[in-house]
Amino acid sequence: MLRRVLPTRCAVCGAWPCHNGGTPWCAACHAQAVAKPPRCPRCALHLAQPHQPHACTRWLHASAAALDYAFAWRDLVLAFKTEPQLAWAPAWAQLMYQAALRGQLSLRQARWWLPIPMAAARLRQRGFNHAWVLAQALAQHTGGQSHLHPHLLQRTLDDQQQHRRSSRQRLAAATAWHVAQPEAVAGQRVVLIDDIMTTGATLDTAAHCLLEAGAAQVDALVLARAPLA
Ligand SMILES: [Zn+2]
Ligand SMILES: [Zn+2]
Repeated sequence: MLRRVLPTRCAVCGAWPCHNGGTPWCAACHAQAVAKPPRCPRCALHLAQPHQPHACTRWLHASAAALDYAFAWRDLVLAFKTEPQLAWAPAWAQLMYQAALRGQLSLRQARWWLPIPMAAARLRQRGFNHAWVLAQALAQHTGGQSHLHPHLLQRTLDDQQQHRRSSRQRLAAATAWHVAQPEAVAGQRVVLIDDIMTTGATLDTAAHCLLEAGAAQVDALVLARAPLA
């Protein structure tokens, strides 16, 4: 609440004073974030030029990302993930919503917005799932609560088990996921929600599993997309 009335320092560039309607960053940083970099419409990778060849995802139909997981937002995104900076969720959700509009990713036409579940051991350690926090904030921002389903997509392998596999194996391993009620996704469009998309393999295998369960189309909306190394 105090953020709305007292000047603060921009959490991204450090500018002082920063008045920007309660968001933790200044208007200039916000403008830079939404400046529409060219992204691959399928995997949301930031491309130097349109149609630049890259290792793309296979099962996702479309993806949108609010930010690059890179300077100057990387530390802030990481702080959201590692420290419980949950107060930033509404501001992140607003950026994600704008990214969906820019990427022409239709949230409304999807039946479900499914947060990527966290491995059970990590969930016990952290106490909350960031993807679920973002999905809830997105629903609050858009009035889309009826699109949320916390348990439809479930994880059957934890991250460590998954990391031991090669990336090729991971891409083939839709068995890392389980759809709790296939009848709820049959013929439906689904949008997966996650905080950070690194290679895209996690989201892509989840998309594969949902398609196998009968989903008509699977898209992804993420807060931050890792650029090419
Ligand atoms: Zn700033
Ligand atoms: Zn791509």
